[in-house]
Amino acid sequence: MSQTLVLNATYEPLGVVSDRRALILVLNQRATTVEDSEITLHHAHGSFNLPAVIRLTKFVKIPYRHAIPLSRRAIFARDGGKCVYCGATATSIDHVMPRSRGGGHHWENVVSACHKCNHQKADRTLKEIGWKLRTAPREPAGAAWRILGSGHSHQRWLAYLEPYGGDVTTTVSA
Ligand SMILES: [Zn+2]
Repeated sequence: MSQTLVLNATYEPLGVVSDRRALILVLNQRATTVEDSEITLHHAHGSFNLPAVIRLTKFVKIPYRHAIPLSRRAIFARDGGKCVYCGATATSIDHVMPRSRGGGHHWENVVSACHKCNHQKADRTLKEIGWKLRTAPREPAGAAWRILGSGHSHQRWLAYLEPYGGDVTTTVSA
């Protein structure tokens, strides 16, 4: 079974459902297909493809925002798969304020880093080694991040996730 990305009527990513469930939504005219998947279903009168991306016909108001789980994959996605210190390809995550110095494990203190910078920085603070962050790390907003962080995002979904999730192309193709 494959999965389908669900967009709000406004094209904002909402979540992921099974492609069968997505098909039912389309057949019930509660959603329209935005993009087909490669999976073809054959029936008596021909064939059609299951949807890769659907869009709800009616706008759904999201009651509240879920906290986005802090995962290595989600951190890499937020930081574009690059080391925040030197721009090299990230291979690990780094605590800006080292954990040994009281730094917390949260979105504002965790960044993606390359092995070299991580090793060089060790348990020192940025001030101590004279490094600066170009942008302050923060918690990303929106469903696009949950979907990217889950690791189930498909190539065909990226065009719809990127406007809401920043520059993720580098992460996914890496
Ligand atoms: Zn680096």
